[in-house]
Amino acid sequence: MGSIPRTSVSCVVAGGGPAGMVLGLLLARSGVEVAVLEKYPDFLRDFRGDTVHASTLGLLDELGLGERFAALPQQRERRLVMRFDDGAVSEDFTRLPGRHQHIALVPQWDFLNLLADAASTAPGFHLAQNAEVDDLITTAGQVRGVRYLDKDTGRAHRLEAPLVVAADGRHSTVRRLLGLRPRAAATPHDCLYVRIPRAEGDPEGTVLRFSASGGLIMINRGDYWQAALLIGKGTAEAALADDGAWVRRTIARLAPYTADRTAGIAACDIAALQIRIDRLDRWWTPGALLIGDAAHAMSPIAGVGINLAVQDAVAAARILLPGLRRGHVSPKDLARVQRRRRWPAAVTQFAQKRAQAGFVAAAVAEEDGTPPEPLRLPQPLRTLRHWSGFPHLFGRVVALGLRPERLTGPLEPLRHA
Ligand SMILES: Cc1cc2nc3c(=O)[nH]c(=O)nc-3n(C[C@H](O)[C@H](O)[C@H](O)COP(=O)(O)OP(=O)(O)OC[C@H]3O[C@@H](n4cnc5c(N)ncnc54)[C@H](O)[C@@H]3O)c2cc1C
Repeated sequence: MGSIPRTSVSCVVAGGGPAGMVLGLLLARSGVEVAVLEKYPDFLRDFRGDTVHASTLGLLDELGLGERFAALPQQRERRLVMRFDDGAVSEDFTRLPGRHQHIALVPQWDFLNLLADAASTAPGFHLAQNAEVDDLITTAGQVRGVRYLDKDTGRAHRLEAPLVVAADGRHSTVRRLLGLRPRAAATPHDCLYVRIPRAEGDPEGTVLRFSASGGLIMINRGDYWQAALLIGKGTAEAALADDGAWVRRTIARLAPYTADRTAGIAACDIAALQIRIDRLDRWWTPGALLIGDAAHAMSPIAGVGINLAVQDAVAAARILLPGLRRGHVSPKDLARVQRRRRWPAAVTQFAQKRAQAGFVAAAVAEEDGTPPEPLRLPQPLRTLRHWSGFPHLFGRVVALGLRPERLTGPLEPLRHA
């Protein structure tokens, strides 16, 4: 359904990604009438990342959704090994506090469908898919709702609300309509996604390979690998110009066990994705808040973007719930959400930028005919890996994030007994 049967609600969320769906679920279960508007007709996007970290797994448990999540097809990783030309470094999740000593890799559509299904039982929850937000309703500098297009019927609709939350991702329409521009950091890479059939004898777990001749991440999705090949910024067209021959060659070099299955890959099987890192100086204006990638676009490095988006949603729900119940969200409360979530986003992005400079840039360096120097483990990882506690600390920072959010304060009643 591309529209909702209301002209006003207490909160409109633009975008049904991880941030928007978690916020919708938390608010609806707390008794707030909330509408999530998603521009696509379903959640079936293949290339948006799969990693659900321990912080998000803990949240799903608190919401009573842990068992349903565990029943989804998934790959569980208790350890991830990043392999370089001269050695490896691990992220070890086996000593994480709490119930989950792993991270899960789950197709994102399964995760979002689970959230939508769980939210649909709350009376105040509305989800419109194929509903694209294309304008804001604003009076005297205060956002008071959105206009959106029901792409099923071609009809335009108005939806008023005391709060509009932009969870519409890194190309956020709401952000553009508000006239806000994020500061972008340089990123040396983009990425190509391709499926490769799996076969007996392949490695079981996720493969993270960084080499002077390329960077490759392979996610085990049962009968196929979801392979992400790093390429230089803006070089997708050139990389695909020979109908996939360069991709086939590079993947076969980095993951030789797939060499017998890459022959059939053609350019039309390969999706190109741009990587961005950016952040807004201000995440709100009166009547509107931006969260997730709309406020701070994350690189896929360490697979943390989904989890940060989810944590933003939890913090926003907890801080804004009292105001939403009163029907008025003050600028002070919107600023509190930004204050709470800005430093985890900023520090994580800082680490992603260090990783880019430390090894990703070298892994996508262009070939100039001369044999490349081996890509060595970057410092400080080269030194730290000799400390036996490091894999656990590394695993903990990645899996739990810097400021995991819990169902506390006004969200406490949502905790499953
Ligand atoms: C190539 C790549 C791979 C990645 N891999 C990982 C990974 O493995 N793990 C990880 O944790 N992170 C990964 N990330 C980062 C992660 O995808 C994002 O950080 C995360 O999805 C942000 O969630 P979000 O809900 O804020 O936004 P999104 O997931 O982008 O969701 C935004 C939603 O808004 C909808 N929308 C957009 N405009 C409108 C509109 N006008 N009206 C209505 N709806 C709209 C979109 O259709 C979308 O469903 C990756 C990023 C990239 C680029």
